[in-house]
Amino acid sequence: MSDSEDTTAAGEPRVVLVTGGSRGIGLACAEWFLARGDRVAITSRTGSTERDLGADADHFLSLSCDMTDAAQVEAAFETIEATWGPVEVLVANAGVTRDSLVLRMSEDAWSEVIDTNLTAVFRVTKRALAKMIRLHRGRVIMISSVGAFIGSAGQANYAASKAGLFGMARSLAREVASRSITVNVVAPGLVETSMLAALGEAKLAEFAAQVPLGRVAQPDDVAGVVGFLASQAAGYVTGAILPVDGGLAMGI
Ligand code: NDP
Repeated sequence: MSDSEDTTAAGEPRVVLVTGGSRGIGLACAEWFLARGDRVAITSRTGSTERDLGADADHFLSLSCDMTDAAQVEAAFETIEATWGPVEVLVANAGVTRDSLVLRMSEDAWSEVIDTNLTAVFRVTKRALAKMIRLHRGRVIMISSVGAFIGSAGQANYAASKAGLFGMARSLAREVASRSITVNVVAPGLVETSMLAALGEAKLAEFAAQVPLGRVAQPDDVAGVVGFLASQAAGYVTGAILPVDGGLAMGI
C-alpha cells in the first residue's frame, strides 16, 4: 500500500491509538476498532484494562503512559511506531475530573484538570499529526463533554478544559485539512462509567430524567460515533463538534 492510500476504507486495518483506553468510553472505543480489524494501542497510567479484550499481541498493545508526562508520551509513540508504524487514527479520550465550587477550588485542582484534559491532548495530537502530515491521511477525534456547552456547577476546571478542545480542534482542522487529515470532537452527555459512578444512584436517576432520550449513555453509544468519525463515510467531516448526549444540550 502506498503511503498516501486511504486506509479508512472498509476493511483496511489501521493503527489506532486510544488514550485512556483502560476502561469506560476509551475501552469501548478500543473494542470497536478491534472488532473492525484495526491494530489498537491504548494508554493509561495503570497500563492494564478493566476486562480482557481477548485480542492477540499483533492487534493490541496496552501501554502504561501518563499523558501529562511528555517523555512518557514520546516513549509510547516510539513503541507503537516500532511495532506497527505511525498512528493513523487518534482518539484523545483520557480525562479526569476534580470537582468543587470555584471559591473552594485549589489552583492544583484547576491545573491537574487542564493539564490532563487540554494540554495533554495538545501534546498527543501534535505528536500524532507530525506523522499523519507525512502520510497525507489521518483522523483525530477528541472527547469533550456536554459540560463544555452548558457548563456544570462544580466543574469550572473540567468545563473549561473541554470547551478548550473546541477551539483547538477547529484550529487544527484548518491547519491540516490540506493533508486530508480530519479533526473532530465528540461531546458525550452522561455516560455510565466509573467517572459517573461517583455521583451515586439517586443523582444518576435524577440526571437521566433530564435527558430527552430518557437514559444515560452506555460507552458503546459513544464508541460507535467515534468509529464513524474515523471511517471513510466521514471523510468530508472536519472541525465538527458532535454531541452524543441523548438530546440533553440540543439547540445550544
Ligand atoms: P473513566 O474515568 O472511566 O476513564 C478515564 C480513562 O482515562 C482511564 O483509562 C484512565 O486510566 C485514563 N487516564 C486518566 N488520566 C490519565 C492520564 N494522566 N494519563 C493517561 N491516562 C489517563 O472515564 P470515562 O470513560 O467516563 O471518560 C472518558 C472521556 O470521556 C473523558 O475525557 C471524560 O471527560 C469524557 N466524558 C465522560 C462522560 C461521562 O459521563 N462518563 C461525559 C462526557 C465526557 P488511568 O486512571 O489508569 O490513568
